[in-house]
Amino acid sequence: MAASGKISCGCGEVVLHLPNPRPKFRCGCCCSDCLQRAFIGARGKPRSEIAERLEPIDLIYVDSVMFIPNDQTLDRLEVFRINDSEGDNISLRASCCGAVLCTENQQFHTPHSMATFTNLDPEVNCEFEALPQTSCHLFTCDWSEKGANALAQKEVELFEEARPQIFHPAKELQNPLVQALVTAFQLPAAHNSEQFTTFKQLREHMRVDVVDDYFDVSHEVFRLAQQ
Ligand SMILES: [Zn+2]
Ligand SMILES: [Zn+2]
Repeated sequence: MAASGKISCGCGEVVLHLPNPRPKFRCGCCCSDCLQRAFIGARGKPRSEIAERLEPIDLIYVDSVMFIPNDQTLDRLEVFRINDSEGDNISLRASCCGAVLCTENQQFHTPHSMATFTNLDPEVNCEFEALPQTSCHLFTCDWSEKGANALAQKEVELFEEARPQIFHPAKELQNPLVQALVTAFQLPAAHNSEQFTTFKQLREHMRVDVVDDYFDVSHEVFRLAQQ
């Protein structure tokens, strides 16, 4: 049993330790923004299953609380939004290798939760206690219909049942799976101590960059599917 959770960058210079090793929720995300963050974190080269939208980003939601990083680590942390200086998501990345470590949606995740990525190694590595089952896949609106059907078909072959797909969660707030997700975000952090900082406190004195790298490649399939 892990005593704390861990999020490490690919080169190993940045390791975040989270006092609560238990994720609150897990789901796949097919959204173009998660894909863009994966491209950014992998400097344009995420593994092909991710890049080609064959595999959703495997998100776990964890307490947005970590042990206060040491100065060397703090020097290697940057925060950014993608594409829009008013965008909902604020993400943390390691300047050493570019790994995107976690992201916090200011509408839905705050103040207790943030998301990290369990299938984007080697760029980012997560160590948490027994991961929950993947509940569903969010934002299949950003995949082609063919891609979403292929994912369901693959899951039927692997698990005998396809995981539910939620086309656009913000438009399906009454869906019990979306409600379970939102309830999980609202679970207060399990621990509190002067040794800890929230993600929000951590970035208080940090500049929030706007990064629009890899926008086209991460959004183009969606655009093509709409034509
Ligand atoms: Zn997403
Ligand atoms: Zn690194």
